[in-house]
Amino acid sequence: MHAATTVSLIPVLSDNYVFVLHGEGPGAVVVDPAVAEPVIAWLEEKGLELEAVLHTHHHNDHIGGTPGLLQRWPEAAVIASAADRERIPLQTKGVQGGDQLRLLGRELRVLEVPGHTRHHIAYVVEPEAGGAAELFCGDTLFAGGCGRLFEGTPEQMLSSLGSLAALGPETRVWCAHEYTEGNLRWAAEREPDNAAIRTRLAEVQQLRREGRPTIPSHIGLEQETNLFIRAQDAAALRQLRGHKDLWRG
Ligand SMILES: [Zn+2]
Repeated sequence: MHAATTVSLIPVLSDNYVFVLHGEGPGAVVVDPAVAEPVIAWLEEKGLELEAVLHTHHHNDHIGGTPGLLQRWPEAAVIASAADRERIPLQTKGVQGGDQLRLLGRELRVLEVPGHTRHHIAYVVEPEAGGAAELFCGDTLFAGGCGRLFEGTPEQMLSSLGSLAALGPETRVWCAHEYTEGNLRWAAEREPDNAAIRTRLAEVQQLRREGRPTIPSHIGLEQETNLFIRAQDAAALRQLRGHKDLWRG
């Protein structure tokens, strides 16, 4: 038996989330720290000690807080794509798809999910008995959307979304930005007769009016309401992505 772990989110900047995996002990794992100060304050208030930082990709709003966190906790591991060592220079442990990690008594698995960037990875925290898996997918899958294709192809994103969908409907999706309302307003324009999208949009708008996050989502909800994860082929995904990139709703 080990202490149950949970995931918390810290909203930072205009729409980023930093995630913290923590349990009953003092250890904590932080995912994609955009900035350091709010994360340090949050961990200190809870009496937590940083054991590791996980990075999904190299963009500054996912790695910018790591130097500050390492000043406060110099012994923390920094885990990131080995292939992206030049763009994520502080990493102490490079990983690739298929690698397994053990942190805070939990098993984590690394997935390669290129598309948003060429070396984007995701982390799956394997479920405990009776629980759901936790997915940290960075800017690959969003609630109601997907990341922009800065360095990858529609084929790559289609394949990446397919491997996330295969994690199963209960998997909780911790995506790194609060983009849900805009994504669903766009989707509701594309598919005005889609009742599942309309229902979810109303729920999300209520959460946002209350100032609450719409994260986590789960894979089953995305399969019902996310046009990108439902795209039949790369041509369809390319068309959706191009339309969303130009949408100014
Ligand atoms: Zn990004």
